[in-house]
Amino acid sequence: MRHRAYLLTAPRRLELAEVETAPGPGDLLVRVRAALTCGTDTKMYLRGHAKFPFPSRFGHEMSGTVEAVGEGAGGFAPGDAVMVPVSAPCLACDPCRRGRENLCTTLFDAKVWGAFAEFCLIPARVAALQTFPKPKDLPFAEAALLDPLASVLQAQDSAAPPSPSRLLVLGGGPMGYLHAVTARHHGHAVTVADLNSGRLEIFQGLGFSVIEAAGAWEDGAAEAFDAVMECSGAPAAFASGLRVLAPGGTLCLFAGPPAGQALTFDSAALHYKHQRVAGSFHYGRMAVSAARALLVERTLPLGPLLTGTYPLEQFPLVMEKILAGEGMKYVIEPG
Ligand SMILES: [Zn+2]
Ligand SMILES: [Zn+2]
Repeated sequence: MRHRAYLLTAPRRLELAEVETAPGPGDLLVRVRAALTCGTDTKMYLRGHAKFPFPSRFGHEMSGTVEAVGEGAGGFAPGDAVMVPVSAPCLACDPCRRGRENLCTTLFDAKVWGAFAEFCLIPARVAALQTFPKPKDLPFAEAALLDPLASVLQAQDSAAPPSPSRLLVLGGGPMGYLHAVTARHHGHAVTVADLNSGRLEIFQGLGFSVIEAAGAWEDGAAEAFDAVMECSGAPAAFASGLRVLAPGGTLCLFAGPPAGQALTFDSAALHYKHQRVAGSFHYGRMAVSAARALLVERTLPLGPLLTGTYPLEQFPLVMEKILAGEGMKYVIEPG
């Protein structure tokens, strides 16, 4: 099938090109109905990506309708509306067999990639394990949140106590937003800290406690937190997160820090206060299934997260808005 797709041809250079995509054995070819922008895309747009040489297709959060079914792909027929995350575990490698599907050694060998396009391929492994019917009353744009929401739930499952607790989200961007609304949904008392007062207003409007994280803000923080979800990626925030952690609490490094970034902390405090510093990366099938259930329920307030909807041709304009710090996530509707 020939169709239009954005190619990243160099840092900051997008080309709406005619490409060819055909489903191989087990693959599904999907007509993209909604694709969402994501911080990963922005990083790749600015710097390129070691694993995706130019020219590269672009975008990975999407939902749509099945257009064509590869030989032997079961379960779906043309016209079916589907929701899908980026990847699926192999179920055969050592981490997979030990239940650590997010650490599958071949996690990204087959991935949904190229969502800013009229059509996008769901590779066989993802089609077989991680592709789900989209209920009619769930908007395509919300269904496309399956991937980021699964990451969020994977992190909260490992870092937040199961009982209601005090949870701090550091960084009120799109991922921080998903952390805040899901943590509150699960009964936690949620506070959001960010440098940007405009962003904090969005959270205040939703009834969250907020902290303007300027200067030595943690010295004035009125309470300690049982879980701190670090979503900013800013090294200064890691140290702040540790300082406001309650005894027994966990600091979760959710945003990917730059490689080689050192983190210093008082090891005695960690020992005597039984605190943990944990990472969280990607997700396994359980987190995807929980994310899907939550989206289908339609109880999370997602309006303020989805800033605006644009046709495919206006995607470069959307990237400019993101680089200017405007808005949260944008929805691209190719048609
Ligand atoms: Zn993403
Ligand atoms: Zn595996």
